[in-house]
Amino acid sequence: MNIARQVLNCSKFACHSSTINCRRRFCTSQHIMTSRHTHSKRIQGLDKNVWVAFTSVAADPSIVNLGQGYPDIPPPSYVKEALAEAASVDRMNQYTRGFGHPSLVKALSQVYGKVHGRQIDPFTEILVTVGGYGSLFSTMQGLVEEGDEVIIIEPFFDCYVPMVRMAGAKPVLIPLRLKSGNKTITSADWFLDPDELSSKFNSKTKAIIINTPNNPIGKVFTRDELQMIADLCIKHDTLCFSDEVYEWLVYRGHQHIKIATLPGMWDRTIAIGSAGKTFSVTGWKLGWSIGPEHLIKHLQTVMQNTLYTCPTPLQEAVAQGLLRNFELMDQPECYFSSLAEELEGKRDRMAAILQEAGMTPVIPEGGYFMLADVTSLNQDLSHMVGDEAYDYKFVQWMIKEKKLAAIPVTAFVGDESKKQFEKYIRLCFIKQDSTLDAAETILKNWKKM
Ligand code: PMP
Ligand code: GLN
Repeated sequence: MNIARQVLNCSKFACHSSTINCRRRFCTSQHIMTSRHTHSKRIQGLDKNVWVAFTSVAADPSIVNLGQGYPDIPPPSYVKEALAEAASVDRMNQYTRGFGHPSLVKALSQVYGKVHGRQIDPFTEILVTVGGYGSLFSTMQGLVEEGDEVIIIEPFFDCYVPMVRMAGAKPVLIPLRLKSGNKTITSADWFLDPDELSSKFNSKTKAIIINTPNNPIGKVFTRDELQMIADLCIKHDTLCFSDEVYEWLVYRGHQHIKIATLPGMWDRTIAIGSAGKTFSVTGWKLGWSIGPEHLIKHLQTVMQNTLYTCPTPLQEAVAQGLLRNFELMDQPECYFSSLAEELEGKRDRMAAILQEAGMTPVIPEGGYFMLADVTSLNQDLSHMVGDEAYDYKFVQWMIKEKKLAAIPVTAFVGDESKKQFEKYIRLCFIKQDSTLDAAETILKNWKKM
């Protein structure tokens, strides 16, 4: 029996071990693996993933799932219809242009041309990829290399660190700090210390990754904050990777500002967007990177040699959705703004029910997640074994005992910041009223159950 077969044969208790001796409980297989077959250094230490860990547990229908971020409200019917229609046209079921289906890149150039207040070339300044993830991946692979440092603001969308490391570079982390003293805490109370940020830049810094509105905290960076970041990028001649997948989801009193529109920033910025977030279709997995030709061409090189192209009917349907809303921009029925309006009520309801249960919500200015500080619940978890942070144990306990799923916030920070964030959990509120009702019932009965 060859080595690979022997590993495949070990199916007991879903054993996927590639070590010499499978250490999973109950597994008796003796795997013979030579070092030739071990993982590449690029993925060393990247085997744990919060979505893999928590999504399967939360799949049980008896659990109210406010964990992984996806809407359970329906997407607009016209994008679903556009998809069905696209799939009914034979040529739409075949490959399309690799860097983005022509009608989609043209629609993107119209929408983002308007937002940026500049012409965006659909063929040289846009790359369509598989989700925001694909856009981030092609950005890192195309522009970051061994020896580089990339600054990442904590808490961060969890894949940034692995992606920087897979590109051979070093992630340099800087936490947002909490202004103390406010009774109601909002994401605006979390700020970047200017001196601390400036101390992270040096001659090895290739880029800074920003995420506004931020996942998980919901912070919408202000013009002044973005200007401070831009000044540092220009001073140190670095790039800026701006993850803006929640760009349309900004609540009253706040404004999404694109860092690429600040003076001197277009030439050094890649902005990342997602159809999944734009039209509440996370399963469609289409995303885009927008930036100057001299940067986008390197992302295109990654794309042409990895995925080559994205599904044609999905791209066609997203193009239709964008064009429809382009015509409606600045009108109340435009989905880009109407979704945020609908979500604002859900955000406020979520904050109220968390508060009632004795948790302290961090009211987000944007996005569809809310952090809750669970410190004052004083939940004793000392019976739970394992060296995971408190929030991991808290969420595991909450899923089991309360049938409510969330995401632990230390999944979004590095080791040094774990203490600062381990009493926070993240809840997703882009949910139907019936889902929020079910969460409310659990939270209202928190002390009784
Ligand atoms: N960036 C952020 C901040 C996200 O929350 C997500 C999650 N979906 C992504 C990127 C990836 O987006 P997509 O689902 O389009 O790959
Ligand atoms: N972006 C989504 C979230 O933050 C989902 C990420 C994922 O499932 N990998 O919940």
